[in-house]
Amino acid sequence: MVAKATSVGCGGHHASAMTLDCALDAVFKSVHVVAESESIGLMDASGRILAQDVISATNVPGHTNSAMDGYALRWEDTRSPDTTSLHVVGESFAGHPYTGSRLRAGECVRIMTGAVVPESADTIIIQEDTQRDGDTVKLQAECRQGDHVRLAGEDIKAGTVVLPAGRKLRAADMGLLASIGVPEVRVRRRVKVAYFSTGDELRAVGEVLENGQIHDSNRYTLHAMLSDADVESIDLGVVRDDPAALREAFVIAAARADVVVTSGGASVGEADYVTDILAELGQVSFWNVAMKPGRPLVFGKLHGADFFGLPGNPVSVMVTFLQVVRPALAVMSGAPYAPPLRFRARAASKLHKKPGRMEFQRGILICHEGADPSVDSTGRQGSGILHSVNQANCFIVLALDSGSVEKGEWVTVEPFLS
Ligand code: AMP
Ligand code: MG
Repeated sequence: MVAKATSVGCGGHHASAMTLDCALDAVFKSVHVVAESESIGLMDASGRILAQDVISATNVPGHTNSAMDGYALRWEDTRSPDTTSLHVVGESFAGHPYTGSRLRAGECVRIMTGAVVPESADTIIIQEDTQRDGDTVKLQAECRQGDHVRLAGEDIKAGTVVLPAGRKLRAADMGLLASIGVPEVRVRRRVKVAYFSTGDELRAVGEVLENGQIHDSNRYTLHAMLSDADVESIDLGVVRDDPAALREAFVIAAARADVVVTSGGASVGEADYVTDILAELGQVSFWNVAMKPGRPLVFGKLHGADFFGLPGNPVSVMVTFLQVVRPALAVMSGAPYAPPLRFRARAASKLHKKPGRMEFQRGILICHEGADPSVDSTGRQGSGILHSVNQANCFIVLALDSGSVEKGEWVTVEPFLS
């Protein structure tokens, strides 16, 4: 049986609780980036991690083109005080370039947005600054050389790295890759995560509850958070508080996945077997993190897999997943570690806290223009009160040593990004 924590530090898994920073360090040192990669079609690549740099074989735009509807002209013509109108000799539409001869002095071409700028023109005058009369266009405003011309290669130059290995592909990247004509990308294989809930009191959603039973909500939360993390998840259901059943589930999970995530049974109660079974079948790196909610959180190795035993309380599951498991999965996926986005806001009311653990209280953050960002508590902060997370749009991150925070004091907030 594991001993009760007496101090906080970076130590092992016996007497002392670990700070969250030390716990994260230990996790990052332990996990490996998945080695395998695969080529997939661009349409399926959103959310995946690039396994190699993408280098553009072409310029974007491929041709110098117009940013506006108007007339393509030779700028030098507009500098002569005599030239107040130009002769229209042709037109250039998107997909239908001008094919006539080079522009001579006093000539111009009607042009539309996205259409190729004739080689001999260097400037666009917008339609609103002209007056058309038959084949003649009167210029009603001055223009600067190069106005409204989008130069070939001004967005992307052929031969440059447009997206680096390790990039998590997002909507804007999809467009960028399509614009350089890439039909497929090489991405890392998705991290496989097997997860299950533990507890004799748990019943599936849809089952009728007997006295003392509750619905297994953690598996739904975990499923959603794993899908937000763009990993491949393997749902192994609910496992009883029975050492033999748990051993079997541990072995199956580790054989099928890179990472095993469990919820419940990680504490030091009579029916909490997770830490001891991990110690028996694998290695425990730590089991006790000085965070609230979130103690106990077990981490270690189980055969070839990394193992996260999350606490059973629903809020603790979310906090430990978001603060520890999610960054680990990101690193394993091949993305560089990105620390959470945090900034300061003023507490809108008193926040109660005892020193000794880092706290992730649930808050409602309001940013009004011209005023300091302000954050209020969602109310009761018990780790079983899941609706404190439903109402929240951020964590209020309170340092391990800090005590209660008075109304108006600055605190650190971490907005929820999804
Ligand atoms: P444990 O960590 O197993 O001691 O569980 C702590 C608390 O979380 C208990 O009140 C459990 O009933 C509850 N709990 C554990 N697992 C789940 C789950 N999968 N869904 C909802 N609540 C759970
Ligand atoms: Mg339990």
